[in-house]
Amino acid sequence: MTVLAYGTTAASQPLGPMTITRRPPGPRDVQIEIAYCGVCHSDLHQARAEWAGTLYPCVPGHEIIGQISAVGADVSRFAVGETVGVGCMVGSCRNCRSCDDGLEQYCDHGFIGTYNGRSSEPPGHTLGGYAQRITVDDHFVLKIRHAADKLPAVAPLLCAGITTYAPLRRYQAGPGKKIGIVGIGGLGHMGIKLAHAMGAQTVAFTTSAAKRADAKALGADEVVVSRNADEMQAQAGSFDLILNTVAASHDLDPFIALLKRDGTMVMVGVPDQPHPPLNVAGLIFRRRNIAGSLIGGIAETQEMLDFCAEKGITAEIEMIRIQDIETAFERMKAGDVKYRFVIDNSSLAA
Ligand code: NAP
Ligand code: ZN
Ligand code: ZN
Repeated sequence: MTVLAYGTTAASQPLGPMTITRRPPGPRDVQIEIAYCGVCHSDLHQARAEWAGTLYPCVPGHEIIGQISAVGADVSRFAVGETVGVGCMVGSCRNCRSCDDGLEQYCDHGFIGTYNGRSSEPPGHTLGGYAQRITVDDHFVLKIRHAADKLPAVAPLLCAGITTYAPLRRYQAGPGKKIGIVGIGGLGHMGIKLAHAMGAQTVAFTTSAAKRADAKALGADEVVVSRNADEMQAQAGSFDLILNTVAASHDLDPFIALLKRDGTMVMVGVPDQPHPPLNVAGLIFRRRNIAGSLIGGIAETQEMLDFCAEKGITAEIEMIRIQDIETAFERMKAGDVKYRFVIDNSSLAA
């Protein structure tokens, strides 16, 4: 069946309306009428081919909230009318060491992205949430327990939320831990809220002095303007964990210097250009670590959604019509987002 979507046919082309097809639900599928879709910086990176490997036409979107309109015969966990979410993955082999561990994002055979992932259906790759509807294998569908009026602000949890939640849990964020969140954008603002909710001492690092008050309101105990050397120096050697969400190439050494002995900086931002080489002495002399982390598994994504529902955590959002997506991309590029754009997908029919 055909549905309306928004996407682009080339890196140099703006996003615009297009018609795409979705498969009718198979036995294990859930068909979802998409109500809202968050706008991740990864959508911009990929639509514009800032990373290698974008397949066109490209319909981005992997922070999806909607209502179920049909379920396959073998689906027992979900029913028509239920509100659900879909994040960055719609498939994986389900049979490798990582899949068995509930870490489908690290599937040995590669997870299937919600968009730009492999697919046997037209056009030969997956198409994402900037669309009216999507059909997804029920394993990759999440239960949403937030109140109905919160749903637009729940959408960003499906990527920004889980991408920060997973490393915070893995490195045991909690009381007695000092945690830095670098970059206050979509991911970073969720990182602040989540680290604070887990009981950690939370410090926000920003290049935008104007975000200072917001960062405090989001839950940061302290805010450091990372371009201010004195403010940075005052934090030297004090962090257990730093979560780096910055979407652009930058010097990592000043942040490594802020870690305690055995502290870790986890990189989650994926800039289009490499970071400048780091000075390994900064790692060696205090046995510090640098690590990476990719979104989170399905079980942990559900755990994060339930944690957020229980604690009343959602994203800070600005709702847009799909017709304004190019303006949203430009503002995101300029760091002018407070703190996540979310598309009202009903505007696709306008
Ligand atoms: P975003 O909303 O645009 O936020 C990025 C933040 O980085 C900005 O708000 C800004 O914060 C800071 N920044 C500093 N200098 C910058 C510059 N020159 N250009 C852009 N940002 C700069 O992006 P996002 O959606 O949070 O995504 C952040 C990165 O994570 C992207 O690269 C994205 O692709 C990646 N990502 C990774 C995963 C994963 O699984 N690892 C998942 C989702 C997204 P301040 O103003 O506070 O400095
Ligand atoms: Zn994302
Ligand atoms: Zn697998």
